[in-house]
Amino acid sequence: MEDLKNIIRDIPDFPKKGIMFKDITTLLADAKSFHRMVDLIAHRYIGQGIEQVVGIEARGFILGSALAYRLGTGVTLVRKAGKLPYKTRRKTYDLEYGSDTLEIHEDAFTPGSRVLVVDDLLATGGTMAAVVDLVQELGAEVVECVFMTELEFLEGRKRLPDGKVYSLLKF
Ligand code: AMP
Repeated sequence: MEDLKNIIRDIPDFPKKGIMFKDITTLLADAKSFHRMVDLIAHRYIGQGIEQVVGIEARGFILGSALAYRLGTGVTLVRKAGKLPYKTRRKTYDLEYGSDTLEIHEDAFTPGSRVLVVDDLLATGGTMAAVVDLVQELGAEVVECVFMTELEFLEGRKRLPDGKVYSLLKF
């Protein structure tokens, strides 16, 4: 696990002064690390009856689609405002830097479907909390919120459903 953590690159003061940006592109670009990361996460959910994976724009799409493929599910996209073509449900939320609006197609789920919601990194938890609301409002069950990495000192998991948060690499 230390190998996977070490390959993530720290970029100080990006995109704003005071933010230590975790650059996961170095992990994604390395074949061994990428495959290992996806396999380690997928193993946790094999046989758990996951019916759909939700990926959050943009870096959440990468792990989300790899995980969906590995688990044999489809992948549903949560996108920034104005990008999805059909009728949407939307939510505005605060970020570690700024605020944003996310949308999902309103017919994304059959009621009660068991879903994983996936993003690259858990910081303050605002993004994932907004998506959990959207998914639940559309009648699906959030089995777990899944992250490649977590910045534990920001305590983002406190904003997410109790006991339903998993991250592979903790900083
Ligand atoms: P948050 O809503 O605060 O949990 O922020 C999570 C989203 O912002 C994720 O989609 C991350 O990609 C991005 N993000 C926030 N902080 C960082 C950071 N320090 N390094 C890399 N990505 C970050």
